[in-house]
Amino acid sequence: MLGRSADKALGWAVAGLQGLQHIRPPKPVRKRYIRFMPELPEVEMARRRLVRWLDGREVVGVEVDDTRIAPPEGRSALLRIRGALRDSLRRGKLMWLGFETGSLASHLGMTGKWVRREGPGEVRFSRARLVLDDGSVLHYTDPRLFGRLEPLSRSDVEARFSALGLDPLADEVTVKALREALGKGRRAIKVALMDQARVAGLGNIHAAEALFRAGIHPERPGAEVSDAELRRLVRGIAETLDFGLAEQEGEEPAYLEEPGTDNPFQVYGRAGAPCRRCGTPIESIRQAQRTTCYCPRCQPRSPGR
Ligand SMILES: [Zn+2]
Repeated sequence: MLGRSADKALGWAVAGLQGLQHIRPPKPVRKRYIRFMPELPEVEMARRRLVRWLDGREVVGVEVDDTRIAPPEGRSALLRIRGALRDSLRRGKLMWLGFETGSLASHLGMTGKWVRREGPGEVRFSRARLVLDDGSVLHYTDPRLFGRLEPLSRSDVEARFSALGLDPLADEVTVKALREALGKGRRAIKVALMDQARVAGLGNIHAAEALFRAGIHPERPGAEVSDAELRRLVRGIAETLDFGLAEQEGEEPAYLEEPGTDNPFQVYGRAGAPCRRCGTPIESIRQAQRTTCYCPRCQPRSPGR
């Protein structure tokens, strides 16, 4: 670590000598922890926590900071949200809360989270707040600002939902449903699984994890995968989502990106490490601008039939 900080300090010093116009930001220090984005389990657990926190309570005030998470045209409607929670919905990674007055659609983007605090006080990266009648505050935090808060009506959010594909928590996932969702194309099965219009809510982590659990190579075309393999994939998706939900239990969401969080996954973020099932080093490939990790032995490119 010392070496890295020294390099960084030197980089700035050199830049300083060359004059301000030549300053380039130093290369970011390689993170020791791996990137994590909220997927279906995290969004569903966020919804369940909000429902729990709002149970028996009323929203008495709303604060929305001036950031891109809440587009200006929707901000005044968000500020008017009041009263008890009437209903909540979720499909894929989009959740919706309907109150006595007003409603709120929340997309967590890359780093969004809802957290509860007993009373007033600073919360790091807090971008919007629901103040409740017992003095508690529900903060929407988002360091990287890719999330969204919008005052969508129920019909607006249902229109958004209709563009989303099979939701593995809300819908019954069968071999037939999965076959239809994946379609007949030659697209790699991992890429197809991450396409929100086909399967809603699976992202880079849970798609990779489900394919590992099913023993399916991530680059195989979805249309080539047999019914027996799809049966394993149905189970793999259910298992990885159950695991993801269990990981997110508790009052505070824990995202893997935070330093000190252990990697609880089978293959995701484990390139080079031994497969937990067979010991073969986990490999990684690029697919649709994302890194896919898989075990070349447990997930053969050409499975023996
Ligand atoms: Zn393996």
